Amino acid sequence: MDVAVVTVGDELLTGETENTNATWLCRRLTDRGARVRRVTTVPDDEADIARVVNEFHAEYDATVVTGGLGPTHDDRTMAGVAAAFGRELAHSQVAEDWLVEHGGYAADDLAEGTTAIPADARVLHNDPGVAPGAVVESTYVLPGVPTEMRAMFERVADEFEGERQHVETVFAAEPESELVGRFEQVQTEFDVTVGSYPGDGVSIRVSATDPDAVEAAAAWLRERVDSGEEGRDGE
Ligand code: ATP
Ligand code: MG
Repeated sequence: MDVAVVTVGDELLTGETENTNATWLCRRLTDRGARVRRVTTVPDDEADIARVVNEFHAEYDATVVTGGLGPTHDDRTMAGVAAAFGRELAHSQVAEDWLVEHGGYAADDLAEGTTAIPADARVLHNDPGVAPGAVVESTYVLPGVPTEMRAMFERVADEFEGERQHVETVFAAEPESELVGRFEQVQTEFDVTVGSYPGDGVSIRVSATDPDAVEAAAAWLRERVDSGEEGRDGE
């Protein structure tokens, strides 16, 4: 299952807020076996949100949008998602009833627009917060507040799935440029994907859905790279 993540918020684009929601969602979706193919951040702007949701809906099996819920003027996400699907925003009685029952709110106390979601969307309740989320076709709309986003994602987590990737990491104390030939060879010999992450030495990440292929390829590499541990056993 291929998934796209959209994080909404001017404060993310200025660097005022670190985009921890994107990282958390990528990890959680990957853990479930979904493949995250895009992460995009857009401003609190209805047209920007509508455009990217429309594009991702056409391209991916599911899209997760977070941030910019709620009834204040700068929260444009529900309107943007509604526009992407050619729907109106509509009051959700299901959302209101839940807030009255579980949130202890009197219906009249809820700020206007709190329960507005795209027409005919599925409501996602917000256990630690107020603003409801929604699911429109395969687009999931979650709050921006990290605790609220995480709790709401867990309500729908089992709707994201795929074949889990197995991963092994091999360390090489060699310049990355010298490893290129072995990277090519290991991918010819085994049905695995190899990623190379230089830093202090190179972390080589071997991944595949077949754990035996990962293990065999990692063993092949370990025999052929300098791990930097020569002499540790008195050699
Ligand atoms: P609420 O449900 O309370 O209305 P919201 O969905 O409107 O929240 P925002 O107004 O976008 O959420 O953001 C609320 C808070 O969450 C802000 O402090 C914001 O910086 C933080 N936040 C929003 N998006 C992210 C993100 N991608 N990563 C980390 N923090 C975020
Ligand atoms: Mg915001």
